[in-house]
Amino acid sequence: FWQNVKMGPADPILGVNEAFKKDTHDKKVLVGVGAFRDDNGKPLVLTAVRKAEELILKQNLDKEYLPIIGLDSFNKAAIRFAYGSQSAPILENRIAITQSLSGTGSLRIGAAFIERFMPKGTKVYVPKPTWGNHLSVFSDARVETCEYRYFDPKTNGLNIVGLLEDLNNAPNGSVVLLHGCAHNPTGVDPTQDQWAQILQVVKNKNLLPFFDVAYQGFASGDPVRDAYSLRLFTDAGLQVMLAQSFAKNMGLYGERIGSFSIVCATPEEKDCVLSQIKILVRPLYSSPPLNGARIAEKVLNDPELNKLWLVELKAMADRIINMRQLLRSYLENDFKSTHDWSHITNQIGMFCFTGLSPAQVDRLKDEFHIYLTRNGRISVAGVNTKNAKYIAEAFHQVTK
Ligand code: PMP
Repeated sequence: FWQNVKMGPADPILGVNEAFKKDTHDKKVLVGVGAFRDDNGKPLVLTAVRKAEELILKQNLDKEYLPIIGLDSFNKAAIRFAYGSQSAPILENRIAITQSLSGTGSLRIGAAFIERFMPKGTKVYVPKPTWGNHLSVFSDARVETCEYRYFDPKTNGLNIVGLLEDLNNAPNGSVVLLHGCAHNPTGVDPTQDQWAQILQVVKNKNLLPFFDVAYQGFASGDPVRDAYSLRLFTDAGLQVMLAQSFAKNMGLYGERIGSFSIVCATPEEKDCVLSQIKILVRPLYSSPPLNGARIAEKVLNDPELNKLWLVELKAMADRIINMRQLLRSYLENDFKSTHDWSHITNQIGMFCFTGLSPAQVDRLKDEFHIYLTRNGRISVAGVNTKNAKYIAEAFHQVTK
């Protein structure tokens, strides 16, 4: 049956992991994959999550199927967390939401919804560059993507002029994918002023904003601050789509817990949209997993656990911010690098776009056993007080 099936290419991010595992050097460093690590380089399970699990265990709950759209108490808490409990779309009961399989699954439902209900040929504008999987999610759902300028390699910052120009030139009614905070892979976010300019174009061109919010609270340590862009748009009365993930901010990576939501014009419209979301989800996976929803629901809804979580969330964000400072300081103060490394601390979130070329990335791997993707992106979560100096020295050596 399958003799014509050819070997496919390895996933560029997961491929870095594989190469790292095979390396036996004692100083090897993995700054590839985007998952939080503590200062000892170990995965972290939050105490708030452990406590939620204990509470759930004590309740001796059954394992029945969830409804198609998931756990109601999770969904309600998830939209309050993203849009704000006092936001107009929540108070006016016009958000269609379904629990889904983390951020990726949510994006995929959004893509399927676009494919089914937007005019044929509608394009999704994605930032250049964007998280690689965005392109596959949309193309596998038969939705065409198109890039808008985002990163400026000259400044290692945002190309706001190019961005606005490209959105202005997009056909009216296109979809625009926006990273709500902590842009992956560049770590470059628009300022509040720049978000206001983006909002203006989106409004003028009647674009549909599709927010991907995979790092709320994980970027700055403050979930309200990290929801700024999303809330700016919804407060301005725009109807948005949202793919939300609790993988990073709760450390629930493998639990696959997130949500997909659409802000509608009226509660009646919301009912119709939700009915169609159910029709989309049922043949895809029937209903979502139970465990992650129970955990996230407890962490969001139990006042004590919520308080504890927010402290732990800030600690994760602070560790990343501190490692950015440490890396930059070693480069500038210890190794006297003459390059401008200010972007390391100007960027935010798990990822830093170092500006290193593919050839320099190869040297890092071959000479220093440091593993990252060839676009020069490092996951700052892989940096710690023990390896920061070694990484900085290697960066200095390959950029001299
Ligand atoms: N969007 C972006 C921008 C991401 O960086 C990620 C995680 N790498 C996701 C979505 C989805 O992650 P998950 O499916 O694990 O929630």
